[in-house]
Amino acid sequence: MSQLDTSIQYLPGVGPKRAALLQRELGISTLDDLIHFYPFRYTDRSSITPIAEVTPDLAYVQVTARVVRAKLIGKRLSIIVSDGTGEMEMVFFKGIAWNAKRLVPGAAFTFYGKPQNFNGQLNMVHPEVDPPQAPGAEPGFTGVYSSTENLKNGGVTGKVMCKMQAAALSLCLHEVQETLPDYVLKDNGLVPVQYALRNIHFPKDSYALQKSVNRLKFEELFLLQLSLLKQKYVRSRGEHGIPMPKVGPDFNACYDALPYRLTGAQQRVIKEIRADMMSGRQMNRLLQGDVGSGKTMVAVLSCLIAAGNGYQSCIMAPTEVLAQQHYANIVKYLAPTSVRCVMLTGSTSQKDRRGIHEGLEDGSIGIIVGTHALLEDNVIFHRLGLAVIDEQHRFGVDQRSKLWAKGPATPDGTLPPHVLVMTATPIPRTLAMTLYGDLDVSVIDEMPPGRKPVQTICISPGKKNAMYKFLREQIAAGRQVFIVFPLIFESEKMDLQNLQNGYEEIVKAFPLPDYKVAIVHGQQSAEEKNFNMAAFVQGRAHILVSTTVIEVGVDVPNASVMVVESAQRFGLSQLHQLRGRVGRGAEKSYCILVKDFKTSKEAQQRLDLMCSTEDGFEIAEQDMKMRGPGDLEGTQQSGLPINLRIASLAKDGTLLSQARVYAESVLDRDPGLTDPQNARLVSELRKEKYDIKDYGKIS
Ligand code: ADP
Ligand code: MG
Repeated sequence: MSQLDTSIQYLPGVGPKRAALLQRELGISTLDDLIHFYPFRYTDRSSITPIAEVTPDLAYVQVTARVVRAKLIGKRLSIIVSDGTGEMEMVFFKGIAWNAKRLVPGAAFTFYGKPQNFNGQLNMVHPEVDPPQAPGAEPGFTGVYSSTENLKNGGVTGKVMCKMQAAALSLCLHEVQETLPDYVLKDNGLVPVQYALRNIHFPKDSYALQKSVNRLKFEELFLLQLSLLKQKYVRSRGEHGIPMPKVGPDFNACYDALPYRLTGAQQRVIKEIRADMMSGRQMNRLLQGDVGSGKTMVAVLSCLIAAGNGYQSCIMAPTEVLAQQHYANIVKYLAPTSVRCVMLTGSTSQKDRRGIHEGLEDGSIGIIVGTHALLEDNVIFHRLGLAVIDEQHRFGVDQRSKLWAKGPATPDGTLPPHVLVMTATPIPRTLAMTLYGDLDVSVIDEMPPGRKPVQTICISPGKKNAMYKFLREQIAAGRQVFIVFPLIFESEKMDLQNLQNGYEEIVKAFPLPDYKVAIVHGQQSAEEKNFNMAAFVQGRAHILVSTTVIEVGVDVPNASVMVVESAQRFGLSQLHQLRGRVGRGAEKSYCILVKDFKTSKEAQQRLDLMCSTEDGFEIAEQDMKMRGPGDLEGTQQSGLPINLRIASLAKDGTLLSQARVYAESVLDRDPGLTDPQNARLVSELRKEKYDIKDYGKIS
């Protein structure tokens, strides 16, 4: 047995009790686990900032200062310190007795923490307190490990953790095997693993630390990409797809009759799709494009390629409203072709169903648009060649696999249809590369010409009257207005009350008979909802007051203003989707974000970002930076495929791209990783961490 597998309880000063605690709190049981538990930051004991130079903008600072006075204010211990250049306050809400005892006037300490501004006074809340240090006295970095209340109570302090790491490294570091082949280290200028592990815990200097962090992050991202891409290579080498070599007359007829020119991005994406469908391999492509970027046309032309090769297509939308809208648009595009298109949803009558089932089975229907109803067992295709899925994140795994099974039967089994997944929720590239590392990704990054920018402003409730005046002007000019209220699950009752109050206020400001206000929310019956929605869509109501139930994708080109109430409560991608409801017609459009008086700094940042850009991808990138990728809308269901130990998808985008390109080059040379020099990679990929679910099959 190697030292790496030794239990941490045998480390000096640990024992069975602390070992159990570490196992419970951090999942660390062996020396190997321990040395892979890295500091999340470092204190640089060599740099001390004079208080005069401390500002709230700084991340973490260390000051060495003497206590001037200590005071208990309510439940808060306030310690004023001075270093001769200035004064600042140290604040404690916990450990008051202990801190009051040691932080006595005249005593000097080194304080480490995040400076902030509180009522014009510079302070730090719960700084780390150490004996005083002269500037530059003890150069170098000390790792800081994440901890828990229980660990601290159990005596596993930062210092104990450092001692454990030092002991573990001296026992087992020499046994740690290099995980990456020599050529990978050389190509990427990476330091060896043993060097990296020593310096991640006990950096010799800042250069060694940076090299070590880089090595460990690269390793993680590279192996992750290698694992994802390997699945893709395996798939693309198999010939399991329907070859569609032709374009066919229907494609050309539709193309030639288009009322507009395709944007460069649409053309490029169609070329990518054509190449996939011709290749004889199964297409698995994610099409990303902001709201209004023209994805429908791309879907239609793709279906016509299938039709040109004698195959049927289905287009699946998440809701009935969206399916209807798709169907209406698509039928228009298909007018110059001979392709028959039908719609199937939950509310299709039995009689119509029979005709549809027949048409699908005898092959006379070329394209079917619908909802989940398409997945039912009695929906049988003659030759399904392409499945288009709109707004992918609302479909579950089982549902997708049902679609796969509807492909044409061959002597060797069922051939899966080509799959095109369309999403309007922009996913940052770095995340897409990981979540969909196994899918090919196409992006429509260009809007059709003539789309007017939406002017976005953020106001406080005090400006409501001015806003109402503006809305009346818009309505007088023949426009319509959306007013959206937040409805957040936990406080549904209260929110509904807000909505009701808001509605009454609006009706008062926009009285009958001059104004008609419709209201839609989740507590209404389907009929009520449809009735009110239709009143707005058909222009009978001037204002639609609603919760976020207004469907993604619903099109009311005459609506020129989107008002979002309590906008600080919405996430960025939600705000972006809501704003996408306007700016679809010929008129200049507006988005008015009404914030409450109590709006946090983070919420204000989101609102400011909304006012500064309309670019969905930029918003998604920023969103990810502000919140971290786990919270991004559209990814909750799938979740992140892995837990990264040190790299961050939000922050290490450049390194991720580099790792991906490099992983591709490795697989280009050795697709099966059979070359002996890649044996290490194969054994790393076997580890559970990199055993990633096949995202291609579920998207
Ligand atoms: P998405 O589904 O990506 O949100 P749509 O496909 O619904 O967008 O297209 C939005 C609008 O833009 C539609 O009215 C469509 O007719 C129009 N459109 C699409 N492509 C173009 C183009 N190349 N030039 C002009 N208008 C376009
Ligand atoms: Mg659409």
